[in-house]
Amino acid sequence: MRRTRTLAGIGIAAAALLALTACNSGTPSDPGGDADGGDAGEETTWFEVAEDVTLEGSPTFDEMTARDGVVIGVKEDQPGLGYLDVTTGERTGFDIDIARWIAASLGFAEEQIEFKPIASANREQAIVNGDIDYYVGTYSITDKRKEQIDFAGPYFITGQGFLVGADSEITDVEDVSDFNGQTVCSATGSTPIQNIKDNFPEIKTQEYDLYSACVEDLISGKVDAVTTDQAILIGYAAQYPDDVKVVGGLFTEERYGVGFTKGDTALQEHINTLFTDGGDIWQAIFDKNLGSSGIEVEQPAVD
Ligand code: GLU
Repeated sequence: MRRTRTLAGIGIAAAALLALTACNSGTPSDPGGDADGGDAGEETTWFEVAEDVTLEGSPTFDEMTARDGVVIGVKEDQPGLGYLDVTTGERTGFDIDIARWIAASLGFAEEQIEFKPIASANREQAIVNGDIDYYVGTYSITDKRKEQIDFAGPYFITGQGFLVGADSEITDVEDVSDFNGQTVCSATGSTPIQNIKDNFPEIKTQEYDLYSACVEDLISGKVDAVTTDQAILIGYAAQYPDDVKVVGGLFTEERYGVGFTKGDTALQEHINTLFTDGGDIWQAIFDKNLGSSGIEVEQPAVD
């Protein structure tokens, strides 16, 4: 069984690379960028869907199979990583394509995927409740979270940074305490807000469910900075280049994992094998979504 999976994985790798390469030639009128040039919402061919997949001992996979579909928890307000274009209904981003890649490797086509937006604070509970099969959305692997759920990966590494107003005199941050006395905004339940609260009591905090609400407050001058993973902040800086800029960063190491039900080691092994044996797929997903972002990272080895 293991051998079949591995071979299927290699097939997926080659096909997906082709599909993603084709995506790059997509025109603006073809935002879905799928290999057939179809529009968003049509049947897409992002990744070759594996056939006859078996995953013995995976309760999550059993549920997906019974339902004939996969429910994936994601972010949808983080450009470049997990983003929903409300006009076209199209979802894009590095995390979204990682999520699609995993789904295809498990035998599920795009039209069998249901994406569910879940905010940072609600991720563990959504997994524990069985509301989603797995979560892919700037989700740092931490020991505390591992008490409730399990992770595959890491598949990406970034670190905590700051976003300030474009006209801010702050151009470089040497220490997080440079923000003492200022109001910094972040998402409830995230590792960056916890870091500020635990270690920098002289920084005032504002919290929202979503980082996009923090960015709105920054642009309107209600807060002095937004703090979270630099990869997320870079996406907002690209979205609002006249209003905000990224400074400093990487005060912590944030290792992104795929979250799922605690104890599902079969699913964990499947996803880790996919990441390890995926050939150029990771790089193709990175290039397509974050290639022009200025972020320079390599695919990390899985734990
Ligand atoms: N990676 C951090 C975390 O998992 C911040 C980003 C987020 O909130 O998704 O808490």
